[in-house]
Amino acid sequence: EVLRSVARRLHGGMRPTDTVGRLGGDEFLIVIPTIRKAAEAAAVADKVLAQLAAPFAIGGRNFVVSPSIGISLFPDDAEDAEGLIRCADIAMYNAKDAGRNAYRFVTREMGARSRERLDLEAALRRALQNGELFLVSQPQLRISDDLVVGVEALLRWRHPEAGLIMPNRFLPVAEETGLIQAIGDWVLDEVCAQVRRWRDQIGLTVPIAVNVSAQQFRDGQLPAKVAAALDRNGLQGWELEIEVTEGTLIDDVPSAIATLRALKQRGCLIALDDFGTGYSSLNYLHRFPIDKLKIDRSFIHDLEQDGAGDSIPRAIVGLGRSLGLSVVAEGVETEAQLQLLRSLKCESFQGYLFSRPVLAEELEPILALRAA
Ligand code: C2E
Ligand code: MG
Ligand code: MG
Repeated sequence: EVLRSVARRLHGGMRPTDTVGRLGGDEFLIVIPTIRKAAEAAAVADKVLAQLAAPFAIGGRNFVVSPSIGISLFPDDAEDAEGLIRCADIAMYNAKDAGRNAYRFVTREMGARSRERLDLEAALRRALQNGELFLVSQPQLRISDDLVVGVEALLRWRHPEAGLIMPNRFLPVAEETGLIQAIGDWVLDEVCAQVRRWRDQIGLTVPIAVNVSAQQFRDGQLPAKVAAALDRNGLQGWELEIEVTEGTLIDDVPSAIATLRALKQRGCLIALDDFGTGYSSLNYLHRFPIDKLKIDRSFIHDLEQDGAGDSIPRAIVGLGRSLGLSVVAEGVETEAQLQLLRSLKCESFQGYLFSRPVLAEELEPILALRAA
């Protein structure tokens, strides 16, 4: 119904010589044959943004849309429809990245960047087959006694030419292309295999956490995949902790709860990652069957900045206590931050202060000595 209303508003604002169509999903295309200068296209884009600014009242509720508009010009940017649409698409993604509610004209640099993205996608496909992906692990320590109470597995990519590539660079591409499913399956199995090795070799008895992206979480197969990976490696549920962000859960609360319940059914632990940065809905928090809150590292970083203070970490620790959840602080880099967290009675921490994410072998001596 929102799409229909958007279409009506778009259509209402155009001239008879213009064409308005829906390309698919939430993407619309406007063809304006009479434009002679870029400024005219900009004026139309401004008009469209204004038209869509007012909320849509549907079924007694208000919906707000945040359009992103990409513009390409004939014949400067391309000489055929396909080329023009491709250029407008590239510009549209730039408008989206710029924070939505904006328009962008396509530029040469954007074209280069989108080619880079295509190269990255092709390389990422090969990476999975060629075994270029690997995991590093970062321990979580209990603040009261410095024992290791958990380990987070983090993904890395060793590119044959470009070297080490971090997840924030390639995971967005993996998400957009759907490759995240295959990568996520690999990570899940690899993590379970690692838990098994550690349990057999050094008698490890703390859970290993794995990050799960929104797409993996929403496709409905995650609980079955997790159960299969655990079974394949002869593991119990509590040995695996699933990390999700609030954003992943909030889109469709009922099905998020169902998925979380299915994971808990198998005994897995659930952690809410980057807590405090998403659309924290306290309304829902108590309905999600979760075990742990991870205070986002931006709040830990702010602990030492003047003025920011400790109010957010303090509040999250309090929230955790009253909801019966454990709380771990991410990104602890200094002794001063740790002291503050100790004074707040935050349960555990993770960060460069104790260890960067490292290869499994490097962590083994520490795990053998200090695992709770
Ligand atoms: P995250 O799950 O919040 O992971 C914590 C990030 O903080 C990691 O970045 C870690 O290296 C970094 N970090 C840890 N301690 C410190 C510190 O003291 N200071 C600073 N500045 N940073 C610290 P990394 O490994 O680059 O991962 C980034 C994000 O990529 C992760 O954020 C997670 O959302 C995602 N990610 C990583 N591995 C996977 C994976 O296997 N699957 C999925 N779906 N996402 C993953
Ligand atoms: Mg995480
Ligand atoms: Mg995090």
